Amino acid sequence: MATPEISNKPPKSCGHNAGPPPPRPHYHRVRKLVHLTCFLIFVLLPFFNVMRFDIPRQRFYFAGYELLISEFGIIFFALMFLMFVIVVSSVVYGRIYCGYMCPQMIFSEASLETESWIKRKVTKHFIKWPAPRRNLLARGLFYAIVGVASVFLSFIFISYFVTPSDLIRRLASLDMHTAGGISGAVVTLITFLDFTLLRQRFCTTVCPYGYLQGMLGDGNTLLVTYRDENHECIECKKCVRDCLMGIDIRKSPYQIECVHCGECIDSCADILGKLGKEGLIHYTWGETGKVVETETAWYRKLGIRDSKRVVVLLVTLFYLSGLYVALSMRRTILVQLQPVRTSMFRLGDDGTVYNTFRVKLANRGSSDASVSFWLEGLPSGSLTLQPSPVPLKAGETIDRQFEVSARPFTGANEVNRFRIFASTGEKDPEVFDETFLMPQEKKSK
Ligand code: SF4
Ligand code: SF4
Repeated sequence: MATPEISNKPPKSCGHNAGPPPPRPHYHRVRKLVHLTCFLIFVLLPFFNVMRFDIPRQRFYFAGYELLISEFGIIFFALMFLMFVIVVSSVVYGRIYCGYMCPQMIFSEASLETESWIKRKVTKHFIKWPAPRRNLLARGLFYAIVGVASVFLSFIFISYFVTPSDLIRRLASLDMHTAGGISGAVVTLITFLDFTLLRQRFCTTVCPYGYLQGMLGDGNTLLVTYRDENHECIECKKCVRDCLMGIDIRKSPYQIECVHCGECIDSCADILGKLGKEGLIHYTWGETGKVVETETAWYRKLGIRDSKRVVVLLVTLFYLSGLYVALSMRRTILVQLQPVRTSMFRLGDDGTVYNTFRVKLANRGSSDASVSFWLEGLPSGSLTLQPSPVPLKAGETIDRQFEVSARPFTGANEVNRFRIFASTGEKDPEVFDETFLMPQEKKSK
């Protein structure tokens, strides 16, 4: 069956008897559901260490992995991947992130809705009061609610950088002197001012994402477009009144303020639906491309519409696989071992030869561990590392020197190759190929 073409035309018979237009998604409801999901994710993420920094403990948690800040390579790789995903989503879906998932937009909208809800309630219950008194009460209630919400949100925000239990302890002791206390107070104040004064103005004045999107989009990027080839607009301006950003989408689909929320699509469809017509505003692939709802192939509906998108998708999968491999190859217990060659060897009174090594152990996990060491390939060789196995608490780092000793043996050379094994019980033992230096005159004794 042929794919239906874009339809800007009204149904054959217009007017009240034309029957209801075909069912379509209600973007307001979809958006509110996504907002709720994103809010819950935002609140819960720091408690499950899915993605957060722990600055006091110098950790970065990502997808269940606990990384030391010193593991800069993997952290950089993970953050770059997140950036890459945002860029790819901008190429394919335009500013959908702004309208559906951006915390600034979600909380700005919630603040606007709360303010108007309080106004309605105060007007309803105190109708006999003079208007200035009602306004004062409504404003006071609104500020009180936003104040409490700001404390809660700043707590969650700071939990992305400090362990939540530690933060609760600081809050309980009304800590306002340490860096954590000062940051909490500053973030609360900024959040309060943002949700009472700035709100969506942030998106058009401060946030660079809209400008970035202008550079990333192409002819197939998702847009909100107004199409009225048959001059059916009844000039009700409901689309303008309902627009969160206060713009008129009929002027252009490329306005920097448009966050692709789709509220105007619902508005127009609701109004014209009462006349038995389809709305004039749609999500479309590019300015002249198909209306999203009329796409039939699932991959085209998802935005995979040209070779550029296929390549971008493949690169994303490749990047994701690389990140997964890097994370899965990483060991929770870091063991670094190297010889100390400030002196080549030490000779004991009984003729035993000693070589010094340095070992660095770091437990990057959340539970205690121990590391066992043993040698191979060095006759009569032994380690002086005590205790054995070496205990290592969660988060602990040990940096110490130890000696490997060996009696001169038959076939010994000035430089003798041997191996040190380190086992944490986590995976296969780590193997370090080392050399043991012996005095020349002691050879083959
Ligand atoms: S809601 Fe639709 S009909 Fe009303 S002004 Fe906007 S585009 Fe025109
Ligand atoms: S023009 Fe439409 S899609 Fe754009 S911000 Fe306004 S309501 Fe949302």
